[in-house]
Amino acid sequence: MNLSGFYRTEYHDGLHNLSRDYWTKVFEEHSDAAIARVSDLLHEATLQADGCMVLGAKTPRKVKFRGSRKYAYQFVHTVLGAILASYEDVVRHTCHNRNCIRPDHLIGGTRADNYQDEQERQYLGR
Ligand SMILES: [Zn+2]
Repeated sequence: MNLSGFYRTEYHDGLHNLSRDYWTKVFEEHSDAAIARVSDLLHEATLQADGCMVLGAKTPRKVKFRGSRKYAYQFVHTVLGAILASYEDVVRHTCHNRNCIRPDHLIGGTRADNYQDEQERQYLGR
């Protein structure tokens, strides 16, 4: 599924929470602006030799959009996938580089998955 095909499922109202309500509003009312912001971030990113697309910062960049601050990688993944992310949903890096926003290096997961990733990342010294 992607943003152009976003629609509310029959479970939508029963599953709502603050985070999902935020993303619902973004997808239904501000999708063009959200896509434009993702596009800006991807253009701004530097393509490295290892394939990662990084924003020049020591710590992962945050994006302010419609009253909420998200990590840039989280924003890119969630908007491009039209994912109604909840607090439990995390965005993981297959490349273990948290400054990377390359869409195909980002996958969804749980907090437990993320913990495992963090252990591997530290083990790899990244
Ligand atoms: Zn990467």
